[in-house]
Amino acid sequence: MEPLYQSKIKCICCEFTFMTSRVRPSFKRAVKTDTDFCGYYKPEVNPDFYVVRVCPNCGFASTENGMERLNDQQKKQYHEKSTGKIRIIAVCEARNKQWPATS
Ligand SMILES: [Zn+2]
Repeated sequence: MEPLYQSKIKCICCEFTFMTSRVRPSFKRAVKTDTDFCGYYKPEVNPDFYVVRVCPNCGFASTENGMERLNDQQKKQYHEKSTGKIRIIAVCEARNKQWPATS
């Protein structure tokens, strides 16, 4: 079974719907945990790399357990502060310590 699957997400900032990679529950279990709770996972995939979802339309980043929506003022502030400052990259590919590759 593949460790990743695609899930449809709706951006809470611009309401754009996009697909993002998620880790199957059986691959989320740590094989070892340090006393500081740093987890070690199967070599196929590290679930920590898939916590953040980035909207390919506006660049807003969120997490599954983060805010459920933004009010109009928050959306306006995000767009004002982010315009021209964000370079949106592919978000559906497998991620690792080198992701995203800079070029
Ligand atoms: Zn968005």
